[in-house]
Amino acid sequence: MAIDHAKEPLYTADEALARLKAGNLRFINGEARFPTVQKEVLADLAKGQQPYVTILGCSDSRVPPELVFDAGFGELFVIRVAGNVLGPSILGTLQYAGLHLRTPLFVVLGHEGCGAVQAAIASRFDGTRQASRIEILLEQIIPALDALDPDAAPDELLRAGVEANVRRTMRELLETPEARARLAEGHMRLIGAVYELDSGRVRFLD
Ligand SMILES: [Zn+2]
Repeated sequence: MAIDHAKEPLYTADEALARLKAGNLRFINGEARFPTVQKEVLADLAKGQQPYVTILGCSDSRVPPELVFDAGFGELFVIRVAGNVLGPSILGTLQYAGLHLRTPLFVVLGHEGCGAVQAAIASRFDGTRQASRIEILLEQIIPALDALDPDAAPDELLRAGVEANVRRTMRELLETPEARARLAEGHMRLIGAVYELDSGRVRFLD
Protein backbone atom coordinates (compact mmCIF):
# COMPACT_ATOMS: atom_id res chain seq x y z
CA MET A 1 0.00 0.00 0.00
CA ALA A 2 1.65 3.21 -1.12
CA ILE A 3 1.23 6.20 1.11
CA ASP A 4 -0.76 8.82 -0.74
CA HIS A 5 -0.69 12.31 0.55
CA ALA A 6 -4.05 13.85 1.24
CA LYS A 7 -5.63 15.64 -1.68
CA GLU A 8 -8.90 17.44 -1.85
CA PRO A 9 -11.63 14.79 -2.08
CA LEU A 10 -13.15 14.38 -5.53
CA TYR A 11 -16.62 14.12 -4.03
CA THR A 12 -18.46 15.00 -0.86
CA ALA A 13 -19.84 12.16 1.26
CA ASP A 14 -23.31 12.75 -0.17
CA GLU A 15 -22.05 12.73 -3.76
CA ALA A 16 -20.10 9.54 -3.04
CA LEU A 17 -23.26 7.91 -1.68
CA ALA A 18 -25.23 9.03 -4.75
CA ARG A 19 -22.59 7.37 -6.97
CA LEU A 20 -22.92 4.08 -5.05
CA LYS A 21 -26.71 4.15 -5.36
CA ALA A 22 -26.57 4.92 -9.09
CA GLY A 23 -24.00 2.13 -9.61
CA ASN A 24 -26.10 -0.41 -7.74
CA LEU A 25 -29.09 0.54 -9.93
CA ARG A 26 -27.03 0.01 -13.10
CA PHE A 27 -25.93 -3.36 -11.72
CA ILE A 28 -29.51 -4.44 -10.96
CA ASN A 29 -30.72 -3.24 -14.36
CA GLY A 30 -27.99 -5.08 -16.28
CA GLU A 31 -26.39 -1.80 -17.39
CA ALA A 32 -22.97 -2.17 -15.73
CA ARG A 33 -20.33 0.07 -17.29
CA PHE A 34 -17.03 -1.76 -16.79
CA PRO A 35 -16.63 -4.91 -18.87
CA THR A 36 -12.87 -4.25 -19.23
CA VAL A 37 -10.28 -1.85 -17.96
CA GLN A 38 -8.76 0.57 -20.45
CA LYS A 39 -4.99 1.00 -20.69
CA GLU A 40 -5.13 4.76 -20.17
CA VAL A 41 -7.14 4.23 -16.96
CA LEU A 42 -4.48 1.84 -15.64
CA ALA A 43 -1.68 4.27 -16.57
CA ASP A 44 -3.47 7.06 -14.74
CA LEU A 45 -4.13 4.91 -11.67
CA ALA A 46 -0.49 3.81 -11.54
CA LYS A 47 0.29 7.38 -10.44
CA GLY A 48 -1.86 7.06 -7.31
CA GLN A 49 -5.26 6.30 -5.93
CA GLN A 50 -8.04 8.58 -4.80
CA PRO A 51 -11.04 6.35 -3.96
CA TYR A 52 -14.16 8.19 -2.87
CA VAL A 53 -15.48 5.56 -0.48
CA THR A 54 -14.13 3.02 1.98
CA ILE A 55 -16.21 -0.14 2.24
CA LEU A 56 -15.96 -2.72 5.02
CA GLY A 57 -17.77 -5.75 3.67
CA CYS A 58 -17.97 -9.52 4.09
CA SER A 59 -15.68 -11.99 2.31
CA ASP A 60 -18.73 -13.82 0.95
CA SER A 61 -18.14 -14.57 -2.76
CA ARG A 62 -21.63 -13.37 -3.62
CA VAL A 63 -21.03 -9.79 -2.53
CA PRO A 64 -18.15 -8.27 -4.53
CA PRO A 65 -18.42 -4.50 -3.88
CA GLU A 66 -16.92 -3.34 -7.19
CA LEU A 67 -19.52 -5.33 -9.14
CA VAL A 68 -22.43 -4.56 -6.81
CA PHE A 69 -21.77 -0.82 -7.17
CA ASP A 70 -20.63 -1.02 -10.80
CA ALA A 71 -17.44 0.75 -9.76
CA GLY A 72 -14.13 0.73 -11.61
CA PHE A 73 -10.52 0.40 -10.51
CA GLY A 74 -9.49 3.17 -8.13
CA GLU A 75 -13.00 4.06 -6.98
CA LEU A 76 -13.59 1.89 -3.91
CA PHE A 77 -11.18 1.19 -1.05
CA VAL A 78 -12.39 -2.21 0.09
CA ILE A 79 -11.78 -4.28 3.21
CA ARG A 80 -13.42 -7.70 3.27
CA VAL A 81 -13.55 -9.97 6.29
CA ALA A 82 -16.09 -12.64 7.24
CA GLY A 83 -18.99 -10.94 9.01
CA ASN A 84 -17.65 -7.41 8.29
CA VAL A 85 -16.22 -7.20 11.80
CA LEU A 86 -13.50 -4.98 13.21
CA GLY A 87 -10.12 -6.07 14.56
CA PRO A 88 -6.66 -4.52 14.86
CA SER A 89 -5.67 -4.95 11.19
CA ILE A 90 -9.08 -3.79 9.98
CA LEU A 91 -8.95 -0.71 12.22
CA GLY A 92 -5.45 0.06 10.93
CA THR A 93 -6.68 -0.17 7.34
CA LEU A 94 -9.64 2.07 8.15
CA GLN A 95 -7.34 4.57 9.83
CA TYR A 96 -5.16 4.61 6.72
CA ALA A 97 -8.25 5.28 4.61
CA GLY A 98 -9.29 8.12 6.90
CA LEU A 99 -5.92 9.80 7.37
CA HIS A 100 -4.19 9.24 4.03
CA LEU A 101 -6.85 8.56 1.43
CA ARG A 102 -9.39 10.80 3.16
CA THR A 103 -12.38 9.07 1.61
CA PRO A 104 -15.41 11.19 2.50
CA LEU A 105 -17.73 8.19 2.85
CA PHE A 106 -17.38 4.99 4.89
CA VAL A 107 -19.81 2.12 4.37
CA VAL A 108 -20.27 -0.99 6.52
CA LEU A 109 -21.79 -3.45 4.08
CA GLY A 110 -23.49 -6.54 5.49
CA HIS A 111 -25.51 -8.99 3.46
CA GLU A 112 -28.49 -11.27 3.72
CA GLY A 113 -27.70 -14.91 4.39
CA CYS A 114 -24.34 -14.12 6.01
CA GLY A 115 -22.76 -17.40 7.15
CA ALA A 116 -20.66 -15.67 9.82
CA VAL A 117 -23.75 -14.08 11.39
CA GLN A 118 -25.58 -17.40 11.07
CA ALA A 119 -22.76 -19.17 12.92
CA ALA A 120 -22.75 -16.47 15.61
CA ILE A 121 -26.51 -16.93 16.08
CA ALA A 122 -26.02 -20.69 16.42
CA SER A 123 -23.27 -20.14 18.96
CA ARG A 124 -25.21 -17.53 20.95
CA PHE A 125 -28.57 -19.31 21.07
CA ASP A 126 -27.79 -23.01 20.56
CA GLY A 127 -24.29 -23.27 22.01
CA THR A 128 -22.84 -24.57 18.74
CA ARG A 129 -19.03 -24.50 18.67
CA GLN A 130 -16.66 -23.89 15.74
CA ALA A 131 -12.91 -24.30 15.21
CA SER A 132 -10.80 -22.06 17.46
CA ARG A 133 -10.05 -19.18 15.14
CA ILE A 134 -13.59 -19.09 13.80
CA GLU A 135 -14.73 -18.81 17.42
CA ILE A 136 -12.52 -15.74 17.85
CA LEU A 137 -14.19 -14.20 14.81
CA LEU A 138 -17.66 -15.03 16.10
CA GLU A 139 -16.87 -13.36 19.42
CA GLN A 140 -16.81 -10.10 17.44
CA ILE A 141 -20.37 -10.70 16.24
CA ILE A 142 -22.09 -12.31 19.24
CA PRO A 143 -22.48 -9.11 21.32
CA ALA A 144 -24.46 -7.60 18.42
CA LEU A 145 -27.11 -10.29 18.90
CA ASP A 146 -28.08 -9.43 22.48
CA ALA A 147 -31.31 -7.62 21.57
CA LEU A 148 -32.54 -10.32 19.17
CA ASP A 149 -35.60 -12.46 19.87
CA PRO A 150 -34.36 -16.08 19.91
CA ASP A 151 -37.93 -17.29 19.33
CA ALA A 152 -38.22 -15.48 16.00
CA ALA A 153 -38.37 -17.58 12.82
CA PRO A 154 -34.83 -18.55 11.66
CA ASP A 155 -35.03 -16.31 8.54
CA GLU A 156 -36.17 -13.35 10.59
CA LEU A 157 -33.53 -14.00 13.24
CA LEU A 158 -30.77 -14.02 10.61
CA ARG A 159 -32.14 -10.90 8.90
CA ALA A 160 -32.23 -9.03 12.23
CA GLY A 161 -28.78 -10.39 13.15
CA VAL A 162 -27.21 -9.14 9.91
CA GLU A 163 -28.57 -5.65 10.46
CA ALA A 164 -27.65 -5.63 14.16
CA ASN A 165 -24.11 -6.71 13.26
CA VAL A 166 -23.75 -3.86 10.75
CA ARG A 167 -24.95 -1.41 13.39
CA ARG A 168 -22.58 -2.80 16.01
CA THR A 169 -19.58 -2.44 13.69
CA MET A 170 -20.67 1.16 13.01
CA ARG A 171 -21.01 1.89 16.72
CA GLU A 172 -17.57 0.48 17.44
CA LEU A 173 -16.08 2.53 14.64
CA LEU A 174 -17.74 5.66 15.96
CA GLU A 175 -16.07 5.05 19.31
CA THR A 176 -12.63 5.63 17.80
CA PRO A 177 -11.35 9.18 18.50
CA GLU A 178 -10.38 9.83 14.87
CA ALA A 179 -13.82 8.84 13.56
CA ARG A 180 -15.47 11.13 16.08
CA ALA A 181 -13.16 13.98 15.13
CA ARG A 182 -13.67 13.58 11.38
CA LEU A 183 -17.44 13.25 11.70
CA ALA A 184 -17.51 16.39 13.85
CA GLU A 185 -15.59 18.23 11.09
CA GLY A 186 -18.46 17.32 8.78
CA HIS A 187 -16.09 15.96 6.10
CA MET A 188 -16.90 12.32 6.66
CA ARG A 189 -20.05 10.27 6.65
CA LEU A 190 -20.52 6.70 7.95
CA ILE A 191 -23.45 4.66 6.71
CA GLY A 192 -24.57 1.06 7.08
CA ALA A 193 -26.03 -1.05 4.29
CA VAL A 194 -27.32 -4.56 3.65
CA TYR A 195 -26.98 -6.32 0.29
CA GLU A 196 -30.00 -8.39 -0.75
CA LEU A 197 -28.76 -11.64 -2.29
CA ASP A 198 -31.79 -12.38 -4.43
CA SER A 199 -32.40 -8.92 -5.89
CA GLY A 200 -28.86 -7.52 -6.01
CA ARG A 201 -30.14 -4.38 -4.32
CA VAL A 202 -28.20 -2.58 -1.59
CA ARG A 203 -30.46 -1.28 1.17
CA PHE A 204 -28.88 1.67 2.96
CA LEU A 205 -29.82 1.85 6.63
CA ASP A 206 -31.13 4.96 8.36
ZN1 LIG B 1 -21.13 -12.84 5.14
